[in-house]
Amino acid sequence: MIARVTLEIALRREFDYFIPPELAGRVEVGTRVQVPFGARKVLGCVTAVAEESDHPNLKAICKVIGEQSLITPKVLRLARWIGEYYCCAPETALKSVLPEAVRKEEAGWRERLYVRAVAVTGEIPKLPKRQQEVWQIIEERRELPLQELLELAATTSATVRHLEDKGLVVIANEISERDPYSREQILPTQPLVMNPQQAKALDRIKAALEAEVAEAAAREPGAPAEAGVSRVFLLHGVTGSGKTEVYLQALAHTLAQGKGGIVLVPEISLTPQTVERFKARFSSGPLQTLVAVLHSHLSAGERHDEWHKIRQGRARIVIGARSAIFAPVEPLGLIIVDEEHEHTYKQEEAPRYHARDVAVVRGRMEGATVVLGSATPSLESFYNCRRGKYQLLEMPERVDDQKMPHVRIVDMRQTVRGGKGIPIFSPQLKEAMQQRLERKEQTILFLNRRGYSTSLQCPVCGYVAECPNCSVSLTYHRRDQKLACHVCGYCAPVPGVCPKPECGNPQIRFAGIGTERVEDTLIKLFPDARIRRMDSDALKRKDDFRRILGDFRVGKIDILVGTQMIAKGLHFPNVTLVGIIYADLALHMPDFRAAERTFQLLTQVAGRAGRGDIEGEVFVQAFTPFHPAIQFARRHDFGGFYEQELEFREQLKYPPFSRAALLTLKGRNEEKVSLSADYLRKELERALGDIKDLVLAGPGAAPLARAETYFRYQLMLRARQMSVVSQRLARLVSTLTLPDDVTLAIDIDPVNMS
Ligand code: ADP
Ligand code: ZN
Repeated sequence: MIARVTLEIALRREFDYFIPPELAGRVEVGTRVQVPFGARKVLGCVTAVAEESDHPNLKAICKVIGEQSLITPKVLRLARWIGEYYCCAPETALKSVLPEAVRKEEAGWRERLYVRAVAVTGEIPKLPKRQQEVWQIIEERRELPLQELLELAATTSATVRHLEDKGLVVIANEISERDPYSREQILPTQPLVMNPQQAKALDRIKAALEAEVAEAAAREPGAPAEAGVSRVFLLHGVTGSGKTEVYLQALAHTLAQGKGGIVLVPEISLTPQTVERFKARFSSGPLQTLVAVLHSHLSAGERHDEWHKIRQGRARIVIGARSAIFAPVEPLGLIIVDEEHEHTYKQEEAPRYHARDVAVVRGRMEGATVVLGSATPSLESFYNCRRGKYQLLEMPERVDDQKMPHVRIVDMRQTVRGGKGIPIFSPQLKEAMQQRLERKEQTILFLNRRGYSTSLQCPVCGYVAECPNCSVSLTYHRRDQKLACHVCGYCAPVPGVCPKPECGNPQIRFAGIGTERVEDTLIKLFPDARIRRMDSDALKRKDDFRRILGDFRVGKIDILVGTQMIAKGLHFPNVTLVGIIYADLALHMPDFRAAERTFQLLTQVAGRAGRGDIEGEVFVQAFTPFHPAIQFARRHDFGGFYEQELEFREQLKYPPFSRAALLTLKGRNEEKVSLSADYLRKELERALGDIKDLVLAGPGAAPLARAETYFRYQLMLRARQMSVVSQRLARLVSTLTLPDDVTLAIDIDPVNMS
C-alpha cells in the first residue's frame, strides 16, 4: 500500500510513500505522518491511499503522528477545494484547516517549555525596558513556547526568569486542558416564546434540516451529498429583531437530530457575552453539550484543547471567528454565519479564503443547512436570493416593537461657511449632546480614523510629513507626541518647525481629524462630562476593551468616542444619541464597494441608538449629504439602496455580476515591478484571453502604491465564472518567470482593494 502525502514545506505538489508493514492499518486519509525528504525528515498529511504508485523506488513513511487522524476526509475535501478555487498550494490550504497548536503537537511541541502570563490584579510593577518589551509579547499571546518567545523578542531566558521572579509569568513544561471561560458562572436559559416573524424563519430552517435528514436516508450509505442542493438561507433581520434566538433554536433542533453546528461571528463580536448566550442554552437539559470556542486570542494550549473537545465529539457546537469554519464537527447539520457581510471573514493572507463562501461550499459538501444572518446583507448574498440560489428570510421588526431611531443628516458644508476651518461638531449635534448630558442619557460618537490629526502640513512650502516606507502621510498622535504610519508602524518625533531646510516655517499645521482630537475637543466643550475613547490606541491592556464597555454599561461614562470597534453588535439601553462625525469618509475610497460599506456602516452605527424605552436619535454629519448611500441609510431603506447599487454594479460588470481576482506584484525596485506587471498582463492575455466575458484591467500602481518599502502594482480580472479562471491562473503561475525580488499574490474574490 502507498500513501499520497502533502508535505508542510512549500512544494505545490504531493509525493507518494510506501506504507511499511509495521504501520499497516494506521495510515488513512487525514493521518499526520513524518516522512524522509532528501536528507531531512518532514511532516505531512496523507491525502489519499492507493494500491500502487506510478513512481518507482518509494521511500517508507517513518512514523505516524497522533492516535486519531486529525483531518477528517470531509475537511480534507474542503481544503482541496480551497487550494483549487483560491489558487494556492495544497500545503497552504491544509495549514489553515488545522490550528498550529494541533498540527505541531506530537512533534515535540508538548515537550518544550511554555511561558504563560499570570492573571495580575492591580498595577503592573514598573519594568526595565527590555523586560517590558518581553512582557508585552507574553501579555498579548498569553501563552507561548519559550523558544518562540526568545526568538521573537531576541532575548535570553534570564530576562524571562526575571519576569517569573516578579510573579508575572510562569514557565512550565506542560499544558493542561484549560477552559478560557472557566471562571465564569453560567446560568442555564430556556428557549423564548417566538414572535411570528421569528417563528416563520425558524420553521423554514427546521424544514430544511428535516429535508437533509430525509434525503440522506434515501441515499446509498456513504454516498456524498448531492451537488447543487443548496440549502442556504439569508436571514435579513434588523438589529434587535431576535436573530440570535432563531440561531439558538435552530441549533437545538440540529442537536435533537443528533448532529452538531458551527456558528461564525466576526472576531470583534466574539465577546464573552456572545459566547455565554450559547453556552447558557446548552449547558443543561437533554440537549446538553459543551460549546467550544475558537478564536485568535486563545493561547496555543487553549486552542489545542478546544479543538480536541470538538474532534472527540464532546463539544457539538462550535462558536468562533473565521477559521472555525474548519472545525471537525461530525456529523455537521447546521452552519450559521452571523453578520455575513463583515469583511473580516476574508483572510488577507494565503490561503485568501472567505469564510462565508467556504461555509456555503462546506454545507453543500456535507449536506448541512447554512444560515447567513445580517441586518445589512452583502450585495453578493442579496443577489443570490434574487437569483433563487439562497432563500430570503426577513425579520423587519425589532422584538420589543421599538421604532427605528430617527436619523438626521447634517450638511457640514453649511457649518464651514463663515467659520474658521472645518468644525468637528455641528451646532445641532452639540446641542443634542448637551441635552443628553442634562437628561443623564448616554451618547456614542463614531469616527473611523484614529490619532489626533491625519497629516502635518506646512502652509508655506507645501511640505507634508510622509512615511519613508509607505505612500501615506503620517498621523499625529498628540498624547504620545509622535507621528506614526498606520500602515507599517513607523514613528517619528513631531517637528516644531517645517523640516525643509530652505523653509523652516514655525507655523506648521495639523489637518484632518482623528478620534483623539474628537476626545480632546469634547473635554474642552463639556468639562464635567465623563468621556472615554475606544480605539486601538486607547486599548493598551488586554482587558481594556471589556473594562471600558463594562464602565459604559453601568453608566460610568457619558460619552463614548470610537472607531469601528464600537459600531458592531453592542447594545446599551441608555444610549439615546449617536453622532457620526464624518459619514462620507469611507465614500471616497478607491473601491467599488465604497457605497455599500458606507451604507452598512451607517446602518450598523445607527442601530446602536434607542434600544431602551426612549426613542433614539442619530446625527449624521456629511459633506455629501445627498449621496444615495447616506440618504437610503437615513430612511432605513435597504431595498432602495440595493436596487440602485445592483444597477451600478451590473453596468460596470462588478461583483456580484462577475467574480473578480486581484493580482498584486510587489518588490523594492519599482522598475522591475512595473516591467513584471506588463509581462504578467501579456501572459494573462495569452493564457486566459479566450475566456468569454473576461475583463482585464491594469496594470497600474495599487491605491496603496508603496507599503513597508515595497512598490505595489495591480491587475484585476473579472469573469462570470471564477473556477475556470482559478485553474488557468494556477497553471500560469507555475510557468511564470518573475525576477527573484518580485512576488505575486493572487486574491480571488478580493475584499480589500488597496
Ligand atoms: P439580533 O441578534 O437580531 O440583534 P437579539 O437576538 O440579540 O437580536 O435580540 C435582541 C433582544 O431581544 C435580546 O435581548 C433577546 O434576548 C430578546 N429577544 C429575542 N427574541 C425574543 C422573544 N421571542 N421574546 C422576548 N425577547 C426576545
Ligand atoms: Zn509606513
